Amino acid sequence: MSTKEVPYKIYLTEDEMPKAWYNLRADMKVKPAPLMHPGTHQPLKAEELTPIFCDELVQQELDETTPFIEIPEEIRNFYKMYRPSPLVRAYCLEQKLGTPAKIYYKFEGNNTSGSHKLNSAIAQAYYAKKQGLKGVTTETGAGQWGTALSMACAYFGLDCKVYMVKVSYEQKPFRREVMRTYGASVVPSPSETTEVGKKILAEHPGTTGSLGCAISEAVEVATKNPGYRYVLGSVLNQVLLHQSVIGLETKTALDKYGIKPDIIIGCAGGGSNLGGLIAPFMGEKLRGEADYRIIAVEPASCPSFTRGTFAYDFCDTGMICPLAKMYTLGSSFIPSANHAGGLRFHGMSTTLSQLYHDGFMEATSVEQTSVFEAAEMFARIEGILPAPESSHAIRVAIDEALKCKETGEEKTIVFGLTGTGYFDLVAYQKYNDGEMSDYIPTDEEIAASVAKLPKVD
Ligand SMILES: *Cc1c(COP(=O)(O)O)cnc(C)c1O
Repeated sequence: MSTKEVPYKIYLTEDEMPKAWYNLRADMKVKPAPLMHPGTHQPLKAEELTPIFCDELVQQELDETTPFIEIPEEIRNFYKMYRPSPLVRAYCLEQKLGTPAKIYYKFEGNNTSGSHKLNSAIAQAYYAKKQGLKGVTTETGAGQWGTALSMACAYFGLDCKVYMVKVSYEQKPFRREVMRTYGASVVPSPSETTEVGKKILAEHPGTTGSLGCAISEAVEVATKNPGYRYVLGSVLNQVLLHQSVIGLETKTALDKYGIKPDIIIGCAGGGSNLGGLIAPFMGEKLRGEADYRIIAVEPASCPSFTRGTFAYDFCDTGMICPLAKMYTLGSSFIPSANHAGGLRFHGMSTTLSQLYHDGFMEATSVEQTSVFEAAEMFARIEGILPAPESSHAIRVAIDEALKCKETGEEKTIVFGLTGTGYFDLVAYQKYNDGEMSDYIPTDEEIAASVAKLPKVD
């Protein structure tokens, strides 16, 4: 099929939107290792998770056999307000790069939260409401998840308490105000409002916080307040499940034009957008029906896949959460205050960790300034001001397209453009003023936090 026939944007109709999420684990021969109880080191049972998470979400978390899980109509109706999201052919970028590669990106930034996170926020809020809960607690790093959850909670009339990583709370006051406008209460983390927050502050006075700290605080508040549960915007299997709408729409759009991607690229913080984008493609790969190169891109300042250890670890700094077997830098690892806030998590989705471990996908890390160079180029050529997180994927997509220029190969590259960067202008300012630095942790720093991994046999 000639490229001329592919429009700049491939849209789907509402009828073509997915009616069920795809559960990638159902097609994995080697399943991700189960979450374990931090005290007993036994796999967690549903009844041990329900005090923390909503009942139906616990079922989804533990379900590794059902390939398709129906999307309730209420959620599909909400999706219709901002989905389907466009799959864009980056004709202008291709031309600028002079590459024979064909570049597509799936743009998830077309909603007020500005990222893909709304896809799971609305699902989690729906199940909390259905269970008759009063509200939910959560953490937010860069602020996208907190914003998405605030929107979802406002829609269903739920109370929403957000623990926001302190560095973001200070750097991104506008995001905080968006959340408050949607009715959420926002507390900078670590805070004096929780036991674990007080402990972290005593041990690390002046810390700018981390996702791990904020998770500990939000979990503590959820478990101590009746009628509340904790919800998480990434890492968990249920979140990857909800995010499969990204990949399912992408696949339907590509199939309409008979396009088969060679390379699929996504940034990886906790792994949810990447896990969602690749889901149906990885499913084909696991079933031996097709092959794709799949690349996870992470910041050099927080390199869980590329320099982490595949082991059981805590998901939070306070060590109160379940243990997950994943690529991790150690739960005591506090990354430098880099600007890709949403990628500052020490661990990684257990599903993606297992797939990476088994050789089904690759990972690479990129430095901050080269990410912003790619972001600037993309903004000027394709018109969208990308989120710094998303720009990690842009960097590698551009690099792969430039390799095609050298070899003359006409590869098809698909990447996830997870969000917009309107609230990341402090970072853009640093870049524009030439004040951005690249921090790469030393082997000693990583070894020190990995040495504190829980001993599990
Ligand atoms: C949160 C976020 C990410 C990273 O989270 P994943 O769970 O790894 O997808 C990437 N991009 C944007 C815009 C985000 O908000």
